[in-house]
Amino acid sequence: MSCAPLKDNRNSLLMQASLESKIALVGLNRRELDTILNVLKEPSFRGQQLFGWLYRSRVDSFEDMGNIPSGLRKSLEEKYRIHPLKLIHVTGSTGESTRKFLFELQSGEKVESVLMKEGKRTTICISSQVGCAVDCDFCATASMGFQKNLSVGEIVDQFLLVSKESTAPITNVVFMGMGEPFLNYDRVISAADLMNAEKGIKLGAKRITISTVGITPKINRYAEEKHRYKLAISLNGASQEKRLKTMPIAKKYPLNDLLVAIDHFSSRSRHPVTLEYVLMAGVTDSKEDAQKLMTLLSGRRCKLNVIPYNEIGGKYKRPGDERIEAFIKVLEKAPFPVTVRWSKGTDIAAGCGQLAVMESSVNN
Ligand code: SF4
Repeated sequence: MSCAPLKDNRNSLLMQASLESKIALVGLNRRELDTILNVLKEPSFRGQQLFGWLYRSRVDSFEDMGNIPSGLRKSLEEKYRIHPLKLIHVTGSTGESTRKFLFELQSGEKVESVLMKEGKRTTICISSQVGCAVDCDFCATASMGFQKNLSVGEIVDQFLLVSKESTAPITNVVFMGMGEPFLNYDRVISAADLMNAEKGIKLGAKRITISTVGITPKINRYAEEKHRYKLAISLNGASQEKRLKTMPIAKKYPLNDLLVAIDHFSSRSRHPVTLEYVLMAGVTDSKEDAQKLMTLLSGRRCKLNVIPYNEIGGKYKRPGDERIEAFIKVLEKAPFPVTVRWSKGTDIAAGCGQLAVMESSVNN
């Protein structure tokens, strides 16, 4: 073995180590970028330029930042990296309507996002945590346990990196991937703000939906803070007893408190809340369940989204089509809008509640 390859390996290892210790710029807002540039004694307009390169032009290297002087590009590159995430695997080919993206964090953990295309609408389903502590009985992510909260950059970077792989501009974001967004509240709101920012990604507030399992103190806070992003809440049962069957979190945040929080949100928001209801065979799918659901929600300003269960090989099953139709028929008389989400991507385990990172999925 000659010395030259050894030296090359060592250099690349050292470079890798220094890259990993660098702070990522994606995730920083205008004010934070300004602070970095102030320290470097740069004029304030550079902050706007840098913000544009990161979030509007979505460059991958400092070299591509055309109007930033080369000296400044060099100074930035010495201390910072652009992306906090590395895309390591894509399931599904470019033409397919649903594709799943696997990312590695700088700390080594992995998270997934899903891209779904339907007509003019291209939606990314984003993760907010690695794993999840909430432990819903029907959810694949729950089997991972909780590992960590994602940073603002790790959330926003899912959008930026997937947008480069998408054949159409991403029109909608849903926080329905791995994790409970309201248990990483501050970072999720900051990430939504960055995706909504006028001179950056500029996604309309009503195109961003945050979905929670029903963390009532955070729903109340969200209502008080009057955020303009849409809110979805997983109901999955029309009584406290039914919710408890699949969602242990209902013990801490009982249905009655959740209903008060929903009404509070409705009184302060322009958008009706979307209530998600997963249909699981023999658990939540009877005509009586549908009737109870209608009684519970009548008089409330809401939309109901019924989701036939996406099986993950566990004890819960998706009801047959006849049973789903019978359930929906009861709700035809509901005084609130009802939609059925025939979840996309179930064949690649990218449907709602199916995201869980397995080592084998990286090698497929
Ligand atoms: S459904 Fe959502 S909140 Fe429940 S365990 Fe899965 S990821 Fe967590």
